[in-house]
Amino acid sequence: NENIRIAIAGHGNLGRGVEAAIGNNPDMRLVGVYSRRAPDQIKPRHAETPVYAMEQLPEDTDKIDVLILCGGSKEDLPRQGPELAALFNTVDSFDTHARIPEYFAEVDPVARANNRTALVATGWDPGLFSLNRALGEALLPDGATYTFWGDGLSQGHSDALRRVAGVAGAVQYTRPAQEAISQVLAGERPELTAQKMHKRECFVVLEDGADAEEVRTAIVTMPHYFDGYDTTVNFISAEELARDHQAMVHGGFVIRSGNTSPDTTQVMEYGLKLGSNPEFTASVLVACARAVHRMNALGQVGAKTIYDVPLGLLSRRSPEELRAQLL
Ligand code: NDP
Repeated sequence: NENIRIAIAGHGNLGRGVEAAIGNNPDMRLVGVYSRRAPDQIKPRHAETPVYAMEQLPEDTDKIDVLILCGGSKEDLPRQGPELAALFNTVDSFDTHARIPEYFAEVDPVARANNRTALVATGWDPGLFSLNRALGEALLPDGATYTFWGDGLSQGHSDALRRVAGVAGAVQYTRPAQEAISQVLAGERPELTAQKMHKRECFVVLEDGADAEEVRTAIVTMPHYFDGYDTTVNFISAEELARDHQAMVHGGFVIRSGNTSPDTTQVMEYGLKLGSNPEFTASVLVACARAVHRMNALGQVGAKTIYDVPLGLLSRRSPEELRAQLL
């Protein structure tokens, strides 16, 4: 059996994570990283990883089995996804939830017309959490589903903090509210808003001469981001920020609670505690690339989501091994 030849389009956090993940999968080989930036600006995780210009991709279609798209969901994937699905089998982690149907509709006809398989919007959320939401609802139709995020570093909220006048540096962690989790696990099916389910904790470095109380007020009243949430602001030094807050931790839970008969409550819980969000997301993308390679060989072309992937195809084990060892 030949190794599956994987390439990476776009080299940010996720691209670096894919480099690491391929090293854990001996049935795969990394062809290289393709970037829009000049190759000499890219520092691959492993010095031996080849780096190419993105324009080179159309010439390398016969060297790559699956291209993992690691561009951002906002600006990059809406263009790159449909374009590259004409040339390659692809996997991406498009995560603008409200726009997934639209994105799928852009990618699907292109992939189909070119006999390519394009798995869109996979990762952990969307991705593994989506699977668990669908599973919970299918198994316990009389019930309610809850998604809690955290403890996690939120990139968007950290950026918002850095734009506040007087802030020199900052990070924001989203933490699930323990009281809400306890209610859900007790099967109470509470009505919860995102604000009641999560707390926001900020670590902020002040600019010289900035007024801490003014900064705190500006943060906790910021509309859409912090207003309405239980928000804590901690002031720390630049050294502490650099020392203690660099890891991109994340995670969360999907909980389905429901009844199978009026007096019988059932609770399903799926949780992730991630030391590195991009490295874990990349591990999901790489397993999905294996499935995409196999689905394409089976003639299953067009855009797909995680709901279309048979679980066994994610595994490096053969169906016989899976039956013998994991069933
Ligand atoms: P980054 O911002 O690190 O990278 C995105 C792209 O920006 C890269 O592909 C790269 O393209 C370019 N880039 C990276 N670094 C630089 C730089 N220093 N200067 C200029 N350009 C740069 O994003 P992430 O890798 O952290 O995340 C990518 C996407 O993954 C997110 O938008 C998010 O949607 C998704 N995601 C999904 C998850 C899920 O569970 N589904 C979980 C986590 C993330 P190029 O090399 O071509 O310049």
